[in-house]
Amino acid sequence: MSEVRDRYLAEIGIPVFKLRAPAVEAPVPAPLVAEPVAAITDVVASNDVWSELAERVRACTSCALHKTRTQTVFGVGRRDARLFVIGEAPGADEDRQGEPFVGRAGQLLNAMLRAIGLPRSEVYIANILKCRPPNNRDPQPEESSCCTPFLSQQIALVQPRALLAVGRISAQWLLQTDTPIGRLRGRVLTYGERNIPLVVTYHPAYLLRSPLAKATAWTDLCLVKDLLDKTP
Ligand code: SF4
Repeated sequence: MSEVRDRYLAEIGIPVFKLRAPAVEAPVPAPLVAEPVAAITDVVASNDVWSELAERVRACTSCALHKTRTQTVFGVGRRDARLFVIGEAPGADEDRQGEPFVGRAGQLLNAMLRAIGLPRSEVYIANILKCRPPNNRDPQPEESSCCTPFLSQQIALVQPRALLAVGRISAQWLLQTDTPIGRLRGRVLTYGERNIPLVVTYHPAYLLRSPLAKATAWTDLCLVKDLLDKTP
């Protein structure tokens, strides 16, 4: 397993240093919110509910972004995924292909997930916004307000064991805060009434521009793996 992990880390661009002495296992940070995670009822959402939601997104004209999109980007992945990955908004590649996290940033995200033993096909991936903002600008508050009910429904349907927020926009919306991402990452937070465990990390597009931050992001991914390993 460690050889596979080392290979994926090398693929991501994180140097692997071998310890001369056995490593001491790092303690897992305590959750920020102390209350126990609420039990998640085992409800299997019907295909009809998903189809209806996808159709509502496809036809949505609730904000001005519908005028400039090529197509909506609903989300992709296992509908019973243990991990739900949440990004910001479609970029040019996503707008063209109709799928979140494609292109170079998507490839890096895939490699990061594989490094913790989760192929892309095992997680669910969606964005805060379903339509591309022109020139990849940040989502505006009114656009997020219009669009995030779709994401909330996706999270409710998937009932993931954990959420991974990639990037500032996603993290700040999920946590309803303007705290900088550097102070949100690196620990376990919670989202929503069900206190779903949430880990924040940097957006892969940022990691492509700032490769030194990859090692920091890797510690966030390890936190996610610890969380999932401990959650039945
Ligand atoms: S961004 Fe969301 S709210 Fe705006 S038009 Fe697209 S689907 Fe509708």
